[in-house]
Amino acid sequence: MSTTELSAPFIHVASPTVDEDDVKAVADVLLSGRLSAGPVATEFERRFAEYVGVEHAVTVNSGTAALHAALAAMGIQPGDEVIVPAMTFFSTATAVIHQGGVPVFCDISLDNFCMSPEDMRQRITPRTRAVIPVHYFGHAAEMDEINAIANEHDLVVIEDCAQSHSTLYKGAMTGSLGHLGAFSFFATKHMTSAEGGMVTTDNADYAGYMRSFRSHGMEGRDDHVILGYNYRISEPAAALGLSQLKRLDVFNEGRIRASEAVIERICDIPWLTVPKVPNHVKHTYFWCHIMVDEDCLGMKTQALIERLRDKGIETRNRYVEPLYRQPLLTRNVPPILRLVAGDNLPDYSAMNLPNAERAAGRVIGLPNRPDLTLFEIERIADVLHSFG
Ligand SMILES: *Cc1c(COP(=O)(O)O)cnc(C)c1O
Repeated sequence: MSTTELSAPFIHVASPTVDEDDVKAVADVLLSGRLSAGPVATEFERRFAEYVGVEHAVTVNSGTAALHAALAAMGIQPGDEVIVPAMTFFSTATAVIHQGGVPVFCDISLDNFCMSPEDMRQRITPRTRAVIPVHYFGHAAEMDEINAIANEHDLVVIEDCAQSHSTLYKGAMTGSLGHLGAFSFFATKHMTSAEGGMVTTDNADYAGYMRSFRSHGMEGRDDHVILGYNYRISEPAAALGLSQLKRLDVFNEGRIRASEAVIERICDIPWLTVPKVPNHVKHTYFWCHIMVDEDCLGMKTQALIERLRDKGIETRNRYVEPLYRQPLLTRNVPPILRLVAGDNLPDYSAMNLPNAERAAGRVIGLPNRPDLTLFEIERIADVLHSFG
């Protein structure tokens, strides 16, 4: 390494967003003596519903719990098939198993890395009850097509919005486009409550069901009327979430500005593909994601990541395999899944979806912190231009 490289500051992909206002909001709640979900959690729900443009929002303690609650509210039954994209965080699929459903994987589109509507249609069987489009990396799935196919077949649509807080599709916010939307406030997401989640919906019955589902299936003080869980958010977490929600637009503007500045400077590089954003989508760049053409670059993606690290540039790289290759599904199928699927258990290890296979491991996230400096942006572009 040369001395100039040694002295160049390391460029991180993300930076902490918690500020003094967040700390004060949490401290106030901690000192109030009310630690379980209370008025602040209710206010968080109200403000979040308003923000997304839906009637109801229901807090839970993770994005995975949000997906599970949404599936339960829609009455997904043992053996019901739920179509999920093969490229997403694994819990989009495990939430289906938690509810006794059978995850069926469909391919992604390489235009937006989200569920391919055409391939989703191919996966529908008489047992299909729901689809979970994921707004991957902050891009929006093609919801009009997905909703139209779902309508035709009477399927429930649950949007996985864990990576798309305030992403717009044809002017409407993700989370308002299906029957329900599931959000995560895990530490790395657009906004955080440390751990936490939210389900959005216009339907009062679904919202009521989920309020009971998240709290031991209780109705009133003593009656347990449905099979519930303890999926409640804590009041301090809700305070952090509410405080962060007030700055979500600022976070997103910064992330979009940084991503667009990087993309503008690298879009002519032949070995990489920058995000394609159609006019009807406002991408919020959970990741500034590029796909690597390894043949054109003459290098494996892992080698590229190491070279970038040596040059002081941090990247993210997920997910390295399509979900149907996860050990849980190939070697260690949960008994509940075997039981509910019976003869209809998909042969996950035999699956091979072409676009998922092409994208797996070859998508990297470049630094897109809201506070990325012009110097850092130029440096990322210069280093990328020096390869290939
Ligand atoms: C983060 C994430 C989840 C899970 O959220 P948790 O809060 O970690 O449970 C689900 N789906 C996607 C697409 C995610 O990125």
